[in-house]
Order: sequence, then structure tokens, then C-alpha cells
Amino acid sequence: MQFDQRQADAATSEINTLLCPMLDLAIADKRKAEYDATRGSGEGDVAKNRIGAGYIGVPCVRDLGFRYHRFPKEARDTGANPGELQRHAAAGHWTENATLDWLGLVGMNIITVALNDHGNEITDQWGKPKQIGWKDGKDPETGQYRLAGEVDGVIIGVDDPHLASLIKPPCIWESKKATDKKWKKFAKEKVRGADPVYFGQVQVNMGYLGVMQTLFSMLNLDTMKFYFELIPFDQRHAQDLVDRGVGVFQTSSPYDLPRLGRSEDDLVCKFCDYRTQCWHGETNTVHVTSQLFNPNTMEDPPF
Ligand code: SF4
Repeated sequence: MQFDQRQADAATSEINTLLCPMLDLAIADKRKAEYDATRGSGEGDVAKNRIGAGYIGVPCVRDLGFRYHRFPKEARDTGANPGELQRHAAAGHWTENATLDWLGLVGMNIITVALNDHGNEITDQWGKPKQIGWKDGKDPETGQYRLAGEVDGVIIGVDDPHLASLIKPPCIWESKKATDKKWKKFAKEKVRGADPVYFGQVQVNMGYLGVMQTLFSMLNLDTMKFYFELIPFDQRHAQDLVDRGVGVFQTSSPYDLPRLGRSEDDLVCKFCDYRTQCWHGETNTVHVTSQLFNPNTMEDPPF
């Protein structure tokens, strides 16, 4: 069969047109099926409508409301599609596993899953090793938790004496990956200045697990350089975020919550996943606030 360069170019173009969306769809469908069968099912002790530590720190409370009330995310011209997002997540898992191995090479003892009194892994209701985390904000009607968080690991031992004088176990470990541009922003502005969502996540996790330090690691996937930051617990910040989350529980729709942006062209709104629904849906009504960070409703840290 004759197959020249012109035919190869045409086939290459067609393969890209066909295969890229096929892969995106297949990967996203597989992930959605896994999620719907496990955490997304709403079965078990964590409610389907909940606020996770991973996004409790989003700057706009109405954005938090859209997430809690499970409004659909809008497609963005400039954003990654669901298949691409899943590949980003896979790169994040690779980064986490590799960093864990490398930190082990320099004598850091890190646990990543919950252990029982005999040091054996605890499994969740779906038979998977249970990640170290916390739950709070019980719904009085269903008994399910509406606030939850998990951590990548907890450092429980540091062999190197110099490092051991800086890192005091138990210390939460949070792993992230980044492009060169993002990595430089973090190295310059530190986590608090660079990203309120990551900063909120580590603060709320420290509050609930009763830990005073987080070692934040960020791997630059363009240069493979690391950035590490030791973040202290800021109780006020953690408390404010939890109070804000509890305020969201008391709403019946995100439209009960105020907008942070002053117009839909505001920078905070430009990349928001709910921009059209926010600015072209119902109108703003009330602002609800509340208090909660109750140690009596928390589980014991599983480490
Ligand atoms: S569009 Fe702007 S105001 Fe509306 S939820 Fe998003 S960030 Fe908040």
C-alpha cells in the first residue's frame, strides 16, 4: 500500500481531530463513573452537598455557595476540558508519590493513610485505604457531615538533626505541582500571598487535625526544581473560613450570598466557573454568617 507524506499529514490531522476528544471523553467518563460510585454517591457519612478543605478558601462566598449547592460548572473557552483536568490530576498524583519517595530517601517518615492502633491501614467503605482527614458540620436531619478535608500526609519523624530542628512532627505535608510561572509566584509571594485557596486548605486542615505546622512542597514540572515552605497555623484564619462555610450551609441557594466581584468583568469573576449563572441568574438577597469550629464535633486525628 502506498502511503506518502501528503497522506501521512492528512491522517495526522484527522487523528488529532478524532483521538484527542475521544480520549478526553473516555477519561472524563471513567473518572465520573468512579466518583459517582464512591464519594459522589452521597452514601456514607459525608454528604453529597458539602464543602471540602480543598476549596473552602475560594475568595468569593457566592462561588462557595455554587459549589455547595452543586450548580453545574460552566465550560470556559480558555479553561481545560474535563479530560485535560483529569490528566492534570494524574500528574498531581505522580508528583505526590514521587515526592513521598524522595523525602523518604532523606529520612523523612511520612504516613499518608489512616492507621489503626496496630499500625495497619484502615480502609473506607469502598475498600480503599482511608486518607488521613477530618469531618465536621453534621447535618441534623441526615447525620451526614458537610465539611471535610484530607491531607496528603503527616510527617511523623525526621532523621536529619538539622531538618529535625526545623520541622516538628506531627507536621502536615501538602504536595502540589506547578508550571514554571506558577512556581515562581509561590517562591516569591509564599503560599499566603500566592493562593488563598491553598492557604485556606492548609489552615483548615491544621485546625481540625490539631497540628501546628504544614510542610508545603511544590514541584516545578518544567524545571523539576522544588520549592518548600513551612507554614504555621493561623487559628483566626481557619476559624473565619469555617464560619463562612457554616454560613453557606444556612442558605437555600447561592443567590442568597453576596458577590465578591463588582461586575462580571471583574478579575475575580473572569475565570469563575459560575460567572454566567451568577450574573444572569437570580439577584442577590441576603448575607448569612454563623459561628462553628467545635472540637466536640471533630473526630480524633487518625495518627
Ligand atoms: S462570578 Fe464573581 S461574584 Fe459571581 S460567584 Fe463567581 S467570583 Fe463570585
